[in-house]
Amino acid sequence: MIQFISLVIPVFNEEANLDNLISRCLTVCEKLQKNYEIILVDDGSRDNSVSKITQAAEKNPNKIIGLLLNRNYGQHAAVMAGFAEAKGDAIITLDADLQNPPEEIPKLVEQLDAGFEVVGSIRMNRQDSLFRRLSSKLVNTMVRQATGVNMHDYGCMLRGYQRHVIEAVLQCHERSTFIPVLANSFAHRTTEVQVEHAARLDGDSKYSLWKLINLQFDLLTSITTLPLRLLTVMGGISAFLGIGFGIFLLVMRFIYGAEWAAKGVFTLFSVQFFFIGLQFMAMGLMGEYLGRIYNDVRARPRYFVKAVVGRNE
Ligand code: UDP
Ligand code: MG
Repeated sequence: MIQFISLVIPVFNEEANLDNLISRCLTVCEKLQKNYEIILVDDGSRDNSVSKITQAAEKNPNKIIGLLLNRNYGQHAAVMAGFAEAKGDAIITLDADLQNPPEEIPKLVEQLDAGFEVVGSIRMNRQDSLFRRLSSKLVNTMVRQATGVNMHDYGCMLRGYQRHVIEAVLQCHERSTFIPVLANSFAHRTTEVQVEHAARLDGDSKYSLWKLINLQFDLLTSITTLPLRLLTVMGGISAFLGIGFGIFLLVMRFIYGAEWAAKGVFTLFSVQFFFIGLQFMAMGLMGEYLGRIYNDVRARPRYFVKAVVGRNE
């Protein structure tokens, strides 16, 4: 059974949503019959969010904790900061814009109590633009393929984690992270619950198209170095085609004479295919080194011990 729950909520220019968010979260948490803390991480807001968070924290000491970052680092970095501060046995993340209704939190807690290490959520009748829904679909399929973990909705930040998963996540020092995917790589038992989804209560999405694209690259590079390897494969195919084409030309030349194939112009193509292929293979080879260097620089923990039993101090 979980005794102590930490909520971690990243906040970036959400002054219009904060009052609502805080009161709804408090109501839900009070009903849980557990210790709790609500960590509001201000990710360098330029509006009144900071003073709202500070006020709420002063009014509810130890229940609401404001963690103020000095500038905008991005949602996932803010959540990481919240993780480092969280004291709970289980940690739940959600968005500050109330797209994830706090009223769904008990569903996650129930699964965490049942011993699941990561509890994801599937957004029912999702209230986002068609573009966002379609790109989510694509990304989710890709992540499922690459990680082999069968979760449906990686985009939804309403998620619950056991403490030891978060400890492992905190030991990953890479700068670009995508927390739901990262956390899953340290979890053994995962499950999902269906949750409601609402339109953003107030304000606009804090993700510009550019920030979204950047996030997708963070996600891609955090799970795989496959694109680098594709260079080698593409190069190999091209070089192989070049050789094949060359042989074809040679044969045709003997049958139909030099007039055929525009007096050797086609031969150039064949030679070119071959060398372009070689170049790609060389790039791919460099990519293999790069990928390995990248993995080493990230210095992720190779394994993570959950508990040691049978040793008496
Ligand atoms: N957020 C953040 N830093 C950022 C961008 C967003 O802390 O640089 C927070 C934001 O306040 C919200 C959550 O991350 O609590 C999700 O952002 P948003 O709702 O704008 O994303 P969307 O729902 O459009 O994906
Ligand atoms: Mg949102």
